[in-house]
Amino acid sequence: MTSTDSSVSRAEDSAQPQTTFADLGLSDAVLKAVRDVGYETPSAIQEATIPTLLEGRDVVGLAQTGTGKTAAFALPILSRLDKSQKAPQALVLSPTRELALQVCESFEQYASHLAGVHVLPVYGGQAYGVQLSALRRGVHVVVGTPGRIMDHIAKGTLDLSELKYLVLDEADEMLKMGFAEDVETILAETPDEKQVALFSATMPAQIRRISKKYLSDPEEITVKSKTTTSANTTQRYLMVSYPQKVDALTRILEVENFDGMIVFVRTKNETETLAEKLRARGYSAAAISGDVAQAQRERTVGQLKSGKLDILVATDVAARGLDVDRISHVVNFDIPIDTESYVHRIGRTGRAGRSGSAISFVTPRERRLLGAIEKATRQPLEQMQLPSVDEVNVTRLTRFDDAITSALEQTTRIDAFRDIIGHYVKHHDVPETDVAAALAVVAQGETPLLLSPQDEVKLARDDRKTKQRNADGPERRKRSSKPMAPYRIEVGRRQRVDPRQIVGALANEGGLSREDFGAIDIRLDFSVVELPADLSHDFFSRVASTRVSGVQIDIKPDKFGPRKRDSGRSGSFDRGNKRGPKREGSWNKDDRKARKPRH
Ligand code: AMP
Repeated sequence: MTSTDSSVSRAEDSAQPQTTFADLGLSDAVLKAVRDVGYETPSAIQEATIPTLLEGRDVVGLAQTGTGKTAAFALPILSRLDKSQKAPQALVLSPTRELALQVCESFEQYASHLAGVHVLPVYGGQAYGVQLSALRRGVHVVVGTPGRIMDHIAKGTLDLSELKYLVLDEADEMLKMGFAEDVETILAETPDEKQVALFSATMPAQIRRISKKYLSDPEEITVKSKTTTSANTTQRYLMVSYPQKVDALTRILEVENFDGMIVFVRTKNETETLAEKLRARGYSAAAISGDVAQAQRERTVGQLKSGKLDILVATDVAARGLDVDRISHVVNFDIPIDTESYVHRIGRTGRAGRSGSAISFVTPRERRLLGAIEKATRQPLEQMQLPSVDEVNVTRLTRFDDAITSALEQTTRIDAFRDIIGHYVKHHDVPETDVAAALAVVAQGETPLLLSPQDEVKLARDDRKTKQRNADGPERRKRSSKPMAPYRIEVGRRQRVDPRQIVGALANEGGLSREDFGAIDIRLDFSVVELPADLSHDFFSRVASTRVSGVQIDIKPDKFGPRKRDSGRSGSFDRGNKRGPKREGSWNKDDRKARKPRH
């Protein structure tokens, strides 16, 4: 095997331009879908693999799940797909049914602007009937486990005579699961001229042998990454479930003594959503992504520098080269998929000889990414715990004290009030501390100053409930008292829609509130949402052009209504943080300064 060891080195700061998806040679429809999904730049494995596959060369890619390898092979296949061909032209072999389904979903998502592309998952345990009728109708891409693919070949129900692209996904896993013989048979029985891409996290001898025997002059792609992280930056991680992330971030914001902060998310779409949530909790936060015009970006960065703004929610691209001394913290709200991005992200803090802090949120599925980061940076990350109610309260009390101290320093303003208060004390015969406490009540508004122990219990319970819901299917949420009716929207599992996106879109654009949502049932190509029965014409005209996952939802009353029970991905939405401090009260406003580290 000729192996060209291709290592991808990304531009460190803005000096070198970053490769974009548009530079890789993908078709316009595929680029459009990538834009809809919100990926900003290709990951390292994508940057190296996509042009090579588009050139027609075979590829051996050393890459793990979580590096973006699915798009690395799916995007070039979809860019070159011949929709008029009835017999399958691409076959992806996956070790497990779960991975096969996941890969199918990705293909569907990346094909959202290619009308009429059919992708079929084929795995053991599923009835043959569904697979056979789909195969008869014609499919372009088949994603399956080797065993079931072999069964179809043996039965003569899968015609691979016109196959152009074959992908072996997680090849080492397939071998571990005993599929070596099946994989070799499939490789041998498919047309010689097909293109093969083999992905594997490791390169055992058996995979080298298979690749030598069945691949033709493959380019071997391993991604080398920059691995130096700054010594004066502490690196921690927090295990969180996805729905806990916003609450976790809010608690961190309360207890960490931060000056300026960058919060990194994975997609452009998420930057604005998260910045908005932080603003709703009273923080001065703004979003920047590659989509934001340069002039606006510079203005926002200027505000961060001057202290007008404390938190920047950003994607990798937007924060490239950002050099602001004030950034004391970097939070990876979404852990980066490349170790190199990690190094680059945390390089935004600990600048100019100051110390910095990096905190990465890791969901249980992302443990492997954490391992990869630790390996590449040769530095273990320290696990941190979600700040407790007590910790949050200690900081709130300190801030409260600080606010009093700093108000007392404003002697002229204090003098002006002293007589008024003195007059009150004298005429009402009330102790001065009571008057001060009453003023604190006025300043604080409705929001309690301190969290209660129930808040701790509630967060744990929310987390348990979410887990249960994910395992169980539809959530039985407390219903609105209004008469409800089912509505159909044209976006479903294939578009990877999440109930939260549906709620977010309809709430924002249609002006609905949380109580207006009943059950949400996500099916393959559409979803059924329970909403008030008496939605106005005005509502329908407001949401007429609403898009979710890049698809116009085209909402209509539904005849059938939600299913009673389903193992599909139904569920609830993020109820948001109800315990976070509302910072409208004047103590909290003044606190912004008090929260900054005191030197
Ligand atoms: P994979 O390794 O294919 O399982 O992908 C891991 C995760 O990264 C998935 O959630 C993808 O949606 C996401 N992803 C893939 N490519 C990119 C990209 N270029 N930028 C941001 N996220 C990506």
